[in-house]
Amino acid sequence: MEPVAREATRRGVAACGRVFNRDPEPVYYRTMSTRLPILVYHQVDDIPPNCWYPGNYVGPAQFAAQLSLLQRLGYSTITFAQYLAFRRGEGTIPTRPIILTFDDGYMSVKTNAYPQLVARGMTATVFVVSGQVGGTNAWDSQATQESLLGTEDILAMQAGGVEFQSHTHTHARLPTLTPDALRHELAHSRAELQSLLGVPVEVISYPYGAHAPQVTAMARETGYQAGVISRRRLNAPTTDPLALRRISITSRTSVARLAWDLLRLRLHRD
Ligand SMILES: [Zn+2]
Repeated sequence: MEPVAREATRRGVAACGRVFNRDPEPVYYRTMSTRLPILVYHQVDDIPPNCWYPGNYVGPAQFAAQLSLLQRLGYSTITFAQYLAFRRGEGTIPTRPIILTFDDGYMSVKTNAYPQLVARGMTATVFVVSGQVGGTNAWDSQATQESLLGTEDILAMQAGGVEFQSHTHTHARLPTLTPDALRHELAHSRAELQSLLGVPVEVISYPYGAHAPQVTAMARETGYQAGVISRRRLNAPTTDPLALRRISITSRTSVARLAWDLLRLRLHRD
């Protein structure tokens, strides 16, 4: 392209920018930098026969396509440790951050998700049930029992940059518990995981997304800085850290649907 034509194109692009986005910097920071999407996955695997919760399975190819989409859209994965430090004013985060989470700590996260994350330089957070490390999804006694990550799997993935946080001790439905049992689920799982990981455990994923005022109060009292629920919204700096919203990704979440959700939610004000 001739220099004059190139200059005209540059001016044209700049003019379009002014027309559609008259005040780019504030909009950029408000809509993209500080509003955080958090995704929640369970299994990354093909749906097995006679499966009770087929929606919990995201196929390996589907997962890879979703990661590619996030990269194309300019998202950078961060951990809760980074996000909480940022909220305390102690650090920075990328301009378009996202947190990928996995509930329950299934073995398929290590075999099918972790290699894809490593290959792309991405991180994630796995919420594990401290009383079932190396065990199975015993809380779903009627469902097919699936292997969960063991101590060595967790430590190997932690060394590879994956963050681990708590999904309670037994995967209990927290709002139904007595205060003593509630305290035990929260405090004991935190202590067990901290001794395994050697780093602070500060985030709780409430099993079934079930939380209540007494649950979040006890989470705070037992040392958690944040908690995650299931709600199709982004997180603003004003979002209650003990009820951070997560977008559920299921076997039916197409790349187009994920792209649309991320765009739509960025424009949604709440
Ligand atoms: Zn769970």
